[in-house]
Amino acid sequence: MDLHLAHLTLVYPDGDATLTAVDDVDLTVPAGTTTAVLGPSGAGKSSLLAVAAGLTPPTSGRVALGDETVLTARTTPAAATRLRLDRIGLVFQSPQLIASLTALEQLELHAHLRRRRPASIRDEALALLDAVGLADQAHRRPAHLSGGQRQRVAIARALVGRPDVLLVDEPTSALDQERGTRVVELITRLAREVGAAAVLVSHDPATLGSVDATVRMTDGRLEPAVARAGAAEPV
Ligand code: ADP
Ligand code: MG
Repeated sequence: MDLHLAHLTLVYPDGDATLTAVDDVDLTVPAGTTTAVLGPSGAGKSSLLAVAAGLTPPTSGRVALGDETVLTARTTPAAATRLRLDRIGLVFQSPQLIASLTALEQLELHAHLRRRRPASIRDEALALLDAVGLADQAHRRPAHLSGGQRQRVAIARALVGRPDVLLVDEPTSALDQERGTRVVELITRLAREVGAAAVLVSHDPATLGSVDATVRMTDGRLEPAVARAGAAEPV
């Protein structure tokens, strides 16, 4: 289902003043495609994802899936949580895995939270671990995985239950350029395979060759120009 952000705005209180972290953002991400949001630190990229994920209510504007408005300033926290569990996969900058659970169990726990049919959970979790190249690491705990492997567990976990939306915040910041490029390729491919509308936040254009579109964020605003990642950077 296509993801639409419409006039999305987030204003934080800032002492006596306010800070507009997300400023009237319009963005459409077609189902099965990945859009990268590039921008410097402080541009509002993480804030944009937090609003799109229902973690922070927008000050104004809306998030829609297809024709259905799913988040506005009036959405209750309970409804936002339900939306996130049912329809949104999230990958944070650090993988946020649970130390005591194996890779497989991280995915299974998520599947239970997402109310998947218990009989199908193990097969889906194993298939996703296989899709991210970790079939042989399924029974390892995070301490016994590399940083890149942990990031891939987090990506697989976000895709449990085939969410309509995949939101990924700086997945490559701890990786070198080659590994970062491969992680972005993995996200782009999986989004296409599960039909998710993916938004990938990055400050590293060199890793973005595989994405479908790139937009640039500065001071809370998205620049209208949409270009292929490689073409977006002046030499
Ligand atoms: P980015 O992810 O692009 O680095 P952020 O979304 O983290 O940007 O931050 C955008 C702006 O919003 C920054 O000026 C930051 O200081 C501010 N900000 C982020 N989170 C909060 C918050 N919870 N309360 C107040 N200001 C915030
Ligand atoms: Mg950020």
